[in-house]
Amino acid sequence: MATEKKEFKTEVQQLLDLVIHSLYSNKDIFLRELISNGSDAIDKLRFNALSDKDLVKNDSEFRIKLYTDNEARTLVIEDNGIGMTRDEIEANIGTIASSGTRKFMEEIKKGNATDNPELIGQFGVGFYSAFMVADKVTLKTRPAGSDESWTWESSGDGSYEISEGGRDKRGTEITLHLKEDSKDYVVEFRIRQIIKKYSDFVEYPILMDITRDDTELDDEGNPKEGAEKKVTVTEETLNSMKAIWMRPKSEVKKEEYNEFYKHISHDYTDPIKTIHYSAEGTLEFKALLYLPARAPFDMFQHEGVKHGINLYVKRVFIMENCEALIPRYLRFAKGVVESNDLPLNVSREILQEDVVIKKIEKNVTSKILSTLKDMMKKSSEEYLSFYKEFGKVIKEGVEVDAANKDKIKDLLLYESSKTKPGEFVSLKEYVERMVPDQKEIYFLTGDSRAALENSPHLEVFKKKDVEVLFMTEPVDEFILPGFGEYSEKNLKSIAQGDIDLGSEEEKKIAEEQKKEASGKYKKLIKKVQDALKDDIKEVRLSDRLTDSASCLVTDEGDINPQMERIFAAMNQPVPEVKRILELNPDHPVLEKMNTLFDSNKKDPKIADYSELLYNQALLTEGVAVKDPVRFSKLISDLMVANN
Ligand code: ADP
Repeated sequence: MATEKKEFKTEVQQLLDLVIHSLYSNKDIFLRELISNGSDAIDKLRFNALSDKDLVKNDSEFRIKLYTDNEARTLVIEDNGIGMTRDEIEANIGTIASSGTRKFMEEIKKGNATDNPELIGQFGVGFYSAFMVADKVTLKTRPAGSDESWTWESSGDGSYEISEGGRDKRGTEITLHLKEDSKDYVVEFRIRQIIKKYSDFVEYPILMDITRDDTELDDEGNPKEGAEKKVTVTEETLNSMKAIWMRPKSEVKKEEYNEFYKHISHDYTDPIKTIHYSAEGTLEFKALLYLPARAPFDMFQHEGVKHGINLYVKRVFIMENCEALIPRYLRFAKGVVESNDLPLNVSREILQEDVVIKKIEKNVTSKILSTLKDMMKKSSEEYLSFYKEFGKVIKEGVEVDAANKDKIKDLLLYESSKTKPGEFVSLKEYVERMVPDQKEIYFLTGDSRAALENSPHLEVFKKKDVEVLFMTEPVDEFILPGFGEYSEKNLKSIAQGDIDLGSEEEKKIAEEQKKEASGKYKKLIKKVQDALKDDIKEVRLSDRLTDSASCLVTDEGDINPQMERIFAAMNQPVPEVKRILELNPDHPVLEKMNTLFDSNKKDPKIADYSELLYNQALLTEGVAVKDPVRFSKLISDLMVANN
């Protein structure tokens, strides 16, 4: 087949332009990315070979090899991994713009990546980092078990070429035609340095032919006259290949842990916590787990995170991102688990049901939860920064992990009516500082702290100095119905149902006052209710308001407006729910309306004022009024009438 010339997808080309023209610092990482790809390709092949031995026939010494050519100014990275078919080349390199491509470009444009090309791996576009150092890249590949091979070549300038042939061995070789300013990437010392730093723990040997010239030299450093030329070439392994999780903890340096983290997670920041342990006894396994410092961009994407926990069995890589090893609500954790108690030929389907895996999952879950608890206790600042990134994810655990529900509740933090913005309180602290006679844990849900802070629902709580938790994330709404008690206290929304505040004595007095007010306003309330019957379920006097005239309350057991919005956003049908309008018996508006009502029961102003009270209640929740034109007219009428 002749050479075919193809255009890059626009987005890929934009990405390449940015890589070529914007990323200057730390170019070294290109080598890490390409070696990682080689190592992944060998992992994949080894896994496939568990069920098809022929794939590795004649060539089962897995390795990555580097070749340099000073004169041609080229560096070659070769692996004997799984290789790529033509379709795979097209899909992986050049045509399909993944969501990662787009995200990475956004980061570069924001200026976040210019100083940090290391970011590139996180977005699944690591291959393109080759163009930081090369003005032409040639990739030759032969898939395992195939007798076809392919050559792909590009100068990163809008197009690439694909032709058949080029490689007679399994695997992939990538030739970088180095730019003038990157020519030192052929220097042995530079390569050794980079490998040591970034790729030392890669499990397969990274080989290179090292040329030594031991010809005897004279005083000026020239070969001695008549001396025999003694040039030797030896293939050396540049990395130590030590599986970091198999080494004793005391022997692993922090930098090594961190580099390994970056290798497996494709993250560019150091992890916030490293957990390295081995379980012994009836269940034996080794685990090296990391808690990242920052949430990856795909944390909340439907398909979930790409890099999670890798599973090894008896030193063989089985699979990456083994979801059976970790519950979804801990999906931010990365790392490696190695067990000797599993068969080598496990598949994802089998794993979901495997007893050993289930036990490991349980153990790993406990370990992560206890580490977080410890972190919360001993380094609260660190925990807070972690929680701000991943709190939303952990919360899902309350809903799905019945066995650990209580432990998870202990990890939760909320802002509240008594914390400053950005400060948080745990449920434990909340309960400890509850006021005397307080029986429940109060909360208010809404879109933002700013919206909640001004809610009229808070008024009586502020007056009585009772703390109210602010719940501002959609996940809060999801977990609340099944949340249950905390420390034998109910969680209670202050915007829903009745409120039971104060001592018995205070309640008695309040009850009497309310009774009196109810008698006084009974007929008026009925009138207001008639005026608003299309929008409102009930009108009643409020226990919550001290300053505002009105507020809306959701009836016990009804779905609240935040939840309605979440359902609507998911295109789920939402039942129409009418709410309760509460009026403040101590507000002069009520007195005024009552006077109007007493003098003329049919006064049309009463219906207008009812509507205004309802609209005011909507506005204080940050919700638009139903008919803004009519609302403005009513207000203007009121202004005119009062002057
Ligand atoms: P990532 O490795 O994060 O997926 P890359 O841009 O580095 O992103 O690579 C894209 C894809 O190209 C890889 O997922 C893999 O399928 C394929 N690939 C890259 N290098 C190799 C290789 N040496 N051998 C086989 N496949 C490779």
